[in-house]
Parts: sequence; structure tokens; C-alpha cells
Amino acid sequence: MIKVPDIIIAVDGWSSTGKSTFAKMVAKHFSFLYLDSGAMYRGVTLLCLEKGMITNGVIDEKALSDALNAGFDLHFERPDDGSTQLFSGERNIEKEIRTMEVSSYVSPVSAVPFVRAWVDERLHAFSAGGRVIMDGRDIGTTVFPNAELKIFMTASDEVRAQRRFDELKAKGNATPFEAVLANLKERDYIDSHRETSPLRRAADAYELDNSDMTLHEELVWIQGLIQGKFGILE
Ligand code: C5P
Repeated sequence: MIKVPDIIIAVDGWSSTGKSTFAKMVAKHFSFLYLDSGAMYRGVTLLCLEKGMITNGVIDEKALSDALNAGFDLHFERPDDGSTQLFSGERNIEKEIRTMEVSSYVSPVSAVPFVRAWVDERLHAFSAGGRVIMDGRDIGTTVFPNAELKIFMTASDEVRAQRRFDELKAKGNATPFEAVLANLKERDYIDSHRETSPLRRAADAYELDNSDMTLHEELVWIQGLIQGKFGILE
């Protein structure tokens, strides 16, 4: 077993490259705290949709800013089954934030600079104890530019869309494959072209292309990386 010091691991990459599956596995294996930054952006998007703050694709930024500043409560809870669930106040919103409707609006919402600042502040507070693995789009570049280990995940468009399609289908959602693929491409475009913290690979990030890899192979890959970089064996 490899002993890993109390570092921060930043996992970034394109939509549906399996970042959260990978990060959750690493967290479990090395006893790290897993934090899903995308869930926070999805939670803010759900708030916008539920409060009617998006009309014809236009976000009412004043209303959104007021709602966030009025103490909107988004936080993670960890039930005994080891999972991480996002809560809005006392309400578990983990299911609602994963719908196609939220996916369709989350990239424009997360491009709003004050939304990013609001989320970043919370991500820092949640990570205060260290020994954290966090996934997202700008973790290694903006949220934790000094993270000791940075991973940038990628996979082919078709593989990514198929994974998302299978995931939605398993949840009883019949979104056509083409629509899933189009949503991924649109999010990637917006995420990598926005002005504030665009998605890009940090210069010191290690790339993981998992198009043809099993989860176990991904674990072996990061074990090798950690061992080589930190050189600690138990
Ligand atoms: O990771 P997930 O696909 O759930 O993220 C949803 C969306 O949230 C992304 O497409 C992106 O627009 C936004 N996001 C972001 N910065 C992060 C994490 C997610 O802009 N660090």
C-alpha cells in the first residue's frame, strides 16, 4: 500500500470524462475527502431554474446575486454509505442537479464571474482540513493553483457521450444519444471559451486519456504517479 501525504489533488478535464468516478475511487482508496465542484455549479443552476431566474436563456444576474448574498445554503453531507450528497438547506438535491435541464444551463450560469467567486469561497472552506481530491474545470488553474498533484482528464467525444447516455438511461432518462453528444460539445465550448477561469490544462498537470482504460487501470496509473512523485511506500 502506498502512503500518500496530506496533499491536494486537483482533477480537471472535459465533460463526462469520468472525473468524479475516478476522484471518488482515489478518495476511497487513499482516504481522501472528495469534493465535486461541478455539483456546486449545478446547485446554483437549479436555484436559477426553480426561482425563474432564466428567461429565454438570459440569466437575471441581479436576482441571482441577491439570492446568493442572502445566504443561499449549498453544502455537502456524507451519509453512512460513504457517498457525498449536495444539500440546499435541509433538502437533498443530488438527483435534481443531474437532469438534462440543469446540464443545459449550467455552463452559462458558471460563466458568471460572481457565481465563480461565490463557489470558490465555499470550495476553499470545505477543503480547509486538507487531504482533499476535488474535480472540476479550473481546480488546478484557479481554485488550487498550488495543488501538489494535478490531473487533466480527456477521452474521445463518442466514448464520453456513450458514458453519459448510459448513465442517464440507467436513471430512466430517454435523452437521445445525439442530444447528449451535442450537450457535451456545447458545455466544452462554453467552459473553454469563457473569460473567467476557462477550462484548460494546467502546465504542470498530468494527462489521463481514459478512452480505452478500465477504472482499475486508472487506479494503477495514479498509484504509479503518486509513488514516483512522492516516493512513499508503507
Ligand atoms: O462536472 P460537471 O459536469 O457536473 O460540471 C457541470 C458544469 O459546471 C460544467 O460543464 C461547467 O460548466 C461547470 N463547472 C465549472 N467549473 C468547475 C466545475 C464545473 O465551470 N470547477
